[in-house]
Amino acid sequence: MSSLQTRSHGDYTVGWICALPTEMAAAQGMLDEHHAVLPPRTQDNNNYAFGRIGDHNVVVACLPLGVMGTISAAIVANQMLSTFTRLRFGLMVGIGGGVPSEEHDIRLGDVVVSKPTGSYGGVIQYDFGKTVQEGKFTRMGSLNRPPDVLLTALANLEAKHMMEGHELAKYLREMMEKYPMNAQFTHPGIQYDSLYKAEYDHPSGQVTCEKCEGTQLVDREPRPSVDPFIHYGLIASGDQVMRHGATRNRLRGELKVLCFEMEAAGLMDCFPCLVIRGVCDYADSHKNKRWQRYAAATAAAYAKNLLNIIPGNQVTGTRTAIEATEENKSNSRDKHDDQNLHQHNHFSGNFNTSGGKAFYGGTYNSGGGPMSF
Ligand SMILES: [Zn+2]
Repeated sequence: MSSLQTRSHGDYTVGWICALPTEMAAAQGMLDEHHAVLPPRTQDNNNYAFGRIGDHNVVVACLPLGVMGTISAAIVANQMLSTFTRLRFGLMVGIGGGVPSEEHDIRLGDVVVSKPTGSYGGVIQYDFGKTVQEGKFTRMGSLNRPPDVLLTALANLEAKHMMEGHELAKYLREMMEKYPMNAQFTHPGIQYDSLYKAEYDHPSGQVTCEKCEGTQLVDREPRPSVDPFIHYGLIASGDQVMRHGATRNRLRGELKVLCFEMEAAGLMDCFPCLVIRGVCDYADSHKNKRWQRYAAATAAAYAKNLLNIIPGNQVTGTRTAIEATEENKSNSRDKHDDQNLHQHNHFSGNFNTSGGKAFYGGTYNSGGGPMSF
């Protein structure tokens, strides 16, 4: 399946980033064709996989083992961009904790895709801000929107899925046929999809939910099939693992997010990208790893479905990710200059918080409330 044709770094237009080896395996399982490995440039420590999906040459990188979070994601993205300078956009593809609500009946294995909503670009760094009077937490900054070529494709795909249904099951099936060991990536069975009431915490010391009370389960209509649903909206990104139902629901009320994850906030301002998350748990204390592989596969299948509807020339005709990021930075600087003229008392500029969080290329304004740049 590997193609012997020689390609150069400049031939790769899509950067696909994952956080876990499971997600990297799912990404590779979705490639239509595998390419020979190209050496990274100096000071690039990433390990890459190369291949093609539809019209696009795709380079895949995974975060270093055991190092998750927004900083690690930003480092991987920056190194990727230093080697592959012609990349047009990125896809952050992997698993996340779903936030079910009456409006969004999210189940395990479903896919959540970041989509600009209100003043947010699709991803909210929910733990970045300041605590002010009466202990109130004020969130600051807003992360960039994905590039237009992705947003257009997203709208087209959403419409296509409404009319014809999605092709995720087909891509999952094809992956299993090509790689028989990927049977581990199959649907675990709906009997293992249990959503407990937000206030009901998992008993400490118990590995599984076997001893959790059935009366505390949320009553949900069975679905006609196990095919995943796709949900579009805001994704909450932060450096802590969310595993508390009541906090999840509080943030759902405040921010209307559909999913929690731990990397996207590190990418959005240094690498124009879309975030695609397969739901592997409900971001509560009952979370376990049973659904991780299947959720990684459904997210990767959605990414493939998306790339397959974008014509190659539409991507090569757009500015590179590096150019787009430079332009965003300069727009953001202009905006800040304007604001500084009018708001002498407000601090404005690059933040590097004492907690050791580094932000790459993003500027944040402390005026309070979300801002879109
Ligand atoms: Zn439990």
